[in-house]
Amino acid sequence: MLLEPRETFEALRRDFRWKIPNDFNIGRVVADDWAARHPERVCLQHFSPDGRHLSMTYGELSSQSSALAEALTELGVIRGDRVALLMPQCFETVIAHVAIYKMGAITLPLALLFGEEALEYRLRDAGARVIVTNSFGLQRLKAIKARLPALQTVISVDGSGPNVIGFRSMIEGRSGLFDIVDTGPDTPALMIYTSGTTGPPKGALHGHRVLAGHIPGFQLAHDYLPQPDDKIWTPSDWAWAGGLLNALLPALMLGVPVVSSPAQKFDPHMAFRIMAEMKVRNAFIPPTALRLLKAVDKPREAYDLVLRSIGSAGESLGRETYEWVKAALGIVPNEFYGQTECNFVLSSAAHLGVSKGGFIGKAVPGHEVAIIDAEGRELPAGQTGQVAIKRPDPVMFLGYWNNPKATEDKFIGDWMKTGDLGRQDEEGYVQFFGRDDDVITSSGYRIGPAEIEDCLIGHPAVRLAAVIGKPDALRTEIVKAFVVLQDGYTAQAVLSAEIRDWVKNRLSMHEYPREVEFVTELPLTTSGKVIRRLLRDQEIAKAS
Ligand code: ATP
Ligand code: MG
Repeated sequence: MLLEPRETFEALRRDFRWKIPNDFNIGRVVADDWAARHPERVCLQHFSPDGRHLSMTYGELSSQSSALAEALTELGVIRGDRVALLMPQCFETVIAHVAIYKMGAITLPLALLFGEEALEYRLRDAGARVIVTNSFGLQRLKAIKARLPALQTVISVDGSGPNVIGFRSMIEGRSGLFDIVDTGPDTPALMIYTSGTTGPPKGALHGHRVLAGHIPGFQLAHDYLPQPDDKIWTPSDWAWAGGLLNALLPALMLGVPVVSSPAQKFDPHMAFRIMAEMKVRNAFIPPTALRLLKAVDKPREAYDLVLRSIGSAGESLGRETYEWVKAALGIVPNEFYGQTECNFVLSSAAHLGVSKGGFIGKAVPGHEVAIIDAEGRELPAGQTGQVAIKRPDPVMFLGYWNNPKATEDKFIGDWMKTGDLGRQDEEGYVQFFGRDDDVITSSGYRIGPAEIEDCLIGHPAVRLAAVIGKPDALRTEIVKAFVVLQDGYTAQAVLSAEIRDWVKNRLSMHEYPREVEFVTELPLTTSGKVIRRLLRDQEIAKAS
């Protein structure tokens, strides 16, 4: 799966072939294979605000995950069972992941930020049998546990309670030897619910091959990782495809240490402190978080950074943020693209000259990506259509959990529809236009919010922006912008007029926001993405 270096991106695409072994197992490749050769090699480092950072080696990860697999087997957990992980970034989370993969069971990563309703929905829908969590998660579970009959076992890494098993007590005193069960590329390994940005979340079930499928994109987005001293960190929760599959698992597979950090609201100063103190060389930072980093003045002078690559995905990065990262951090960020169902299929690769502000990037070696029309026909360069990925593809999901209809609807012929609109230029760069349902229809025009938001962010007063279509009797919809201001600016009519003109002068006339509303924050998913749907619903409610 590793890329063999080539001079050009095109040569990489031309020469690349998937070679995924028939007995592929995520637990083996991220832990035991390394432990067999380099047991002392560090695989994880935990950032602690008090400066006492702890490390873990591949040898420890391998034996502790085997011990946990043995203990879970004794509890009756078998291949195919869903084991929920309601955990922050910490060593135990990784131990549990690896144990479950070795057993042929299925991990169900859940974000600690989920409220009770969100948790109950996912645990019930997945029919999770076991949950591994911490004292914070135990609190959340209290109210819902009785309504989840399938959930038989609760394991906690700290804190205790009635019928709660201690994580450490499960692995202590065991041999640390476990025979990895037989798994192949298509054996179910993990299930991640989509972010729920546009509708009710669906469980995307993946086979072990999903990790192999991420490797080429991961290597390119980090400028030929692994290189000596590489070390990765992400502020993204490991419960998302972003944190888990764009950072944690591929890095462990390639022998690159991963820095973990305590869960908290994204704090730009803390982010720089973590990267400086832990000597982070590679970072996966989603666009909204990158924009928030702007709050730190002259970061390269304030912090001793050794960062060499930044990958960013999950939302549109946009030209403005791209340029800011280049200027402020001295790194060309590599934007990439994917979704929980089929991740990391487009990417930039700055070291190979594939990088263009305002464009996501090109189809990663090993993946076929096209812009298609409603009938599934490939569209030529310049035309806007749906971004689609051709099957088979190792990063492509096995299907939605318990929802064959939704799975079927996701395809047209051999194309998997992403629900995102984009266009390709003559060189093969894909530009993001907007999610299908975020596209604004105004006076007969189809307007994508991404470009307008990007333009707004270029205004010195704007920190974050979200653009929606507000229902309008005359024009169907009008463009409305919600704007969070930078510190030091006050919300007033002159500023909103100035911001409207800013867009009017830079984009086409029909794209400028007729309304600008200043807000103190935007509704974000727990993975940090703007939920435009909620802003739209608010406007509809106000109008009726
Ligand atoms: P749901 O499917 O539940 O509505 P979601 O689509 O946000 O939620 P994810 O699978 O986490 O859940 O996110 C994938 C989506 O994120 C993509 O379909 C796309 O809309 C957006 N996205 C990812 N990368 C990029 C990017 N580089 N540029 C623009 N959008 C991106
Ligand atoms: Mg989606």
